Amino acid sequence: MKELLGKDMRLTNQRKIIMEQLQSVTSHPTADEIYGMVREKMPRISLGTVYRNLEVLSTLGLVRKLENAAGQKRFDGDMSPHHHIRCQVCGRVGDIFDAPDISGIEDGIATDFEITGVSLEFSGICPECRSHRDPEQ
Ligand code: ZN
Ligand code: MN
Repeated sequence: MKELLGKDMRLTNQRKIIMEQLQSVTSHPTADEIYGMVREKMPRISLGTVYRNLEVLSTLGLVRKLENAAGQKRFDGDMSPHHHIRCQVCGRVGDIFDAPDISGIEDGIATDFEITGVSLEFSGICPECRSHRDPEQ
């Protein structure tokens, strides 16, 4: 992997702290939330630097970037195969580990695009938002 990395692609100490912070939570935080977390260890880091480092980490395949046209980008330090479910009310993202394996699903699909990835994201309403909506339940 190393020879593929340009000058800017080293796993700097800063990058390592950001990655470890992300791996320590299961909340799929946004860049702003990660910025808030790492500031305790690196008080002088800027939001832009956190952003850039997250992009590099995701390019290197060390973290997952969860993109959705509707909401803010979120990040996941858990690289194990799993899917996600996004709350339509608050935007929170949860993990789904027992859904079918979709690797290879792109084989034989007719498109003139070069397929570079596939993800399966469910939508729903999280328990907290459900309890606000139906206080009786
Ligand atoms: Zn919710
Ligand atoms: Mn996840």
